[in-house]
Amino acid sequence: MHTIALKFYCILLLIFISHNINGKEQHNEKINIDLIVEAKHILTMDASNTILENSSIAINEGLIIEIADIRQINAKYTSDNHILGENRIALPGLINGHSHAAMTLLRGIADDRSLIDWLNNYIYPLEQEFVSAEFVRIGTELACWEMIRGGTTTFVDMYFYPEVISKVVNSCGIRGFVSSTVSDNQTPNAKNAQDAINGGEQFIKKWAKKSPLVTPILGPHAIYSLNLEQLKETRRVAALTNTPISIHLSESEFELQYSKQNYAMTSIEALDSIDFFNGRTIAAHVVWPTKKEISILANKNVGVIHNPTSNMKLASGVAPIADMLEAGVLIGLGTDGAASNNDLDMWEEMRLAALLQKVTKMDPEALPANTILRMATTNGAHIIGLGNKIGRLEVGMEADIIQIEFSDVHHQPNYDIASHLVYVTDEQDVITVIVNGKLIMHKNEFYTLDTNRISREVAAIAKKIGSSIKTN
Ligand SMILES: [Zn+2]
Repeated sequence: MHTIALKFYCILLLIFISHNINGKEQHNEKINIDLIVEAKHILTMDASNTILENSSIAINEGLIIEIADIRQINAKYTSDNHILGENRIALPGLINGHSHAAMTLLRGIADDRSLIDWLNNYIYPLEQEFVSAEFVRIGTELACWEMIRGGTTTFVDMYFYPEVISKVVNSCGIRGFVSSTVSDNQTPNAKNAQDAINGGEQFIKKWAKKSPLVTPILGPHAIYSLNLEQLKETRRVAALTNTPISIHLSESEFELQYSKQNYAMTSIEALDSIDFFNGRTIAAHVVWPTKKEISILANKNVGVIHNPTSNMKLASGVAPIADMLEAGVLIGLGTDGAASNNDLDMWEEMRLAALLQKVTKMDPEALPANTILRMATTNGAHIIGLGNKIGRLEVGMEADIIQIEFSDVHHQPNYDIASHLVYVTDEQDVITVIVNGKLIMHKNEFYTLDTNRISREVAAIAKKIGSSIKTN
């Protein structure tokens, strides 16, 4: 009797096991995808600031194909690249709306001087002596390394040798809006403004569809380095090639005076008088706009990139960010070049943007953490014209995602994620960086950069620059 019961039990067990194996076989038919990213908290940056708990992001062919509960995603998908998410926050990659990447090589070279003294007596002569295709390649690689390290996945750059910058952007796997700089000075790029505009047009035509990561654009330097006719011509070529323009705008009191003296108007008014804003404009700084100019910016959908560190360091002034936001101007964040910052840390820009507005307005409610996070992500994306592709973690968006580790002591305890990201998080807390669905950094390992080689090359070129400063 006992043996029969045991046999019966064994048969039941076998049926149960085989059933389960069948079940597992079904599980083995999971959809194989490029990447799965889990997170304790997912900051989607959607319109209602949704934060998802214990969820996963399924990524395939560069796109976010599903976001759901971790178990749900695991039941449906499988991937060779599965990134865990315990004690980690996932959010859209940061967008640095204004930089001069290769200037990392001039980091810390002439600090504590006024903008014009700094430019005319230090930066321009050094650039004249040292800037070459090689300088730009090494400096941009160093910048990309630093930006990837800190969770920046897109940057808007303005410097010389845009083709060299584009190649570096493409090989580093980061997204770059690369401006061909237009100025009426002789530059490593061009003899004069017309030459620079022609070169820019060629560059845009060549790179327009060359890489999904590179967007070639035009970068007229400023109203004081080009006359209105030349600025008008730059916009004409931008319209013709359907590209945005990046420009320094209303940065310093010097620019304000220059424009008043030369055009009897402030600089934003002067540009508006030539219909310069009829087309996408990424305007860096905007520290000195009048009330009238703020409404021009709002009406013409000019995107403003706030660079608080650079504005403070060069004592350019305090951009009226809260007033511009109230008027409906779209504001993003940028670092400016490392020579006036002196790093490319977007977390620091976020923190300083918040603190600077609060103390200037004497209003602790000015620029709350959520607004700051939008500036560094979704707003930046809208300003550069990629608002429906990046800047939010939603199905159908391109997968530019970063993960923050929040188990370190300075994140404990954790009541409010947005607050921590703005007021606590540092570059070192970024543990994962994904651009266009590809993993480019994880746990301080860089998959697209040879950091040892870059360090060696930076040291070699810095030795030359350093000895030139000592002898001059
Ligand atoms: Zn700049």
